Amino acid sequence: MALLVQKYGGSSVGTLEKIRNVANRVAKEQAKGTGLVVVVSAMQGETDRLLNLVQQITQRPSEREVDALVSTGEQVSAALLAITLESMGIKARSMSGSQMRIETDGHFSRARIKRVDQKAFQSALDAGEVVVATGFQGVDSQGNVTTLGRGGSDTSAVALAAALEADECEIYTDVLGVFTADPRICTTAKKLDEICFEEMMEMASQGSKVLQIRSVELAMNHNVPIRVRSTFSEDRGTLVHNEEDALERLVVRGISHNMNEVKFTMRGLPYGEGAPSKIFGALAEAQINVDVIVQNAPSENNIDLSFTLDQSDRYKAEDVLKVVLADAQGANTEIDENIGK
Ligand code: ADP
Ligand code: ASP
Ligand code: MG
Repeated sequence: MALLVQKYGGSSVGTLEKIRNVANRVAKEQAKGTGLVVVVSAMQGETDRLLNLVQQITQRPSEREVDALVSTGEQVSAALLAITLESMGIKARSMSGSQMRIETDGHFSRARIKRVDQKAFQSALDAGEVVVATGFQGVDSQGNVTTLGRGGSDTSAVALAAALEADECEIYTDVLGVFTADPRICTTAKKLDEICFEEMMEMASQGSKVLQIRSVELAMNHNVPIRVRSTFSEDRGTLVHNEEDALERLVVRGISHNMNEVKFTMRGLPYGEGAPSKIFGALAEAQINVDVIVQNAPSENNIDLSFTLDQSDRYKAEDVLKVVLADAQGANTEIDENIGK
């Protein structure tokens, strides 16, 4: 039996009417006799709403509790879609990260998937049920709920497609496919019919959020073709696949941007004492990704160092820097938020 993994993003399940539209698409595919695992994101705006509630309490919450909270968004949409499918006479079963035994490491809010237990799905698929899987979440070896980073449902979908050896992983979203630039900002951007994994990784790493970068990495490692397409159209979208299978090659594939960076500038760091390596070592240990780095030439035995990282890591990075810079006398740190690149 052909097996397909479909993932529907937040904008595709934003209202009950949209969930019904998704259910109709699923029903159409199921009628062809395809086995289906449908991964859903939280309803549009829900993850932000939950994170905002936390911010109203504290800037430095327990990461375990934040994951426990934000993972609920996906559970709501999975259950609502399963209920909608059943109301249409289609057998469906919602499954959470722990029910699917999606095992991750213990890094809350940025966990990496270690294993997916294929057996967890078997009974549902054998019974002809549509599995409606919560995206974005897993469980660590201690049984704690973890989440995979913003946009992580893409990665959940690819991980399931790889584990179940699905023929393709379809990522349904609110644009027709992958464009040469964000079509919401650049109206002349062109939709690509196909793009290879490496080029897609490059675009995702430079800020194009149509696919989470980890999902592309995982798809490349397991050779899972991804089709990015719209929930609201019959267009075939964009196939993201292996380079050898790509038909055409362009010199420039696309342009990406990211408006969610924060810039740290450290002035007056002592020269020759390995301050940059201490700083980047400590940030790496805290699992914080640093993006653009600029260091100036030393003057009077001091250096200035600037780097950017994702806005969501701002407070964690500040805490790390306080510890690292505790004995760098005379050094001071400036922070610029919401900068673009
Ligand atoms: P979902 O909720 O379905 O996961 P996202 O908002 O995460 O959707 O991703 C889809 C959005 O990605 C589009 O609405 C679009 O604005 C944006 N985007 C950024 N760069 C690109 C690109 N190169 N091609 C297509 N969409 C892009
Ligand atoms: N709901 C999560 C987010 O908003 C995961 C996802 O949508 O992929 O980031
Ligand atoms: Mg997304």
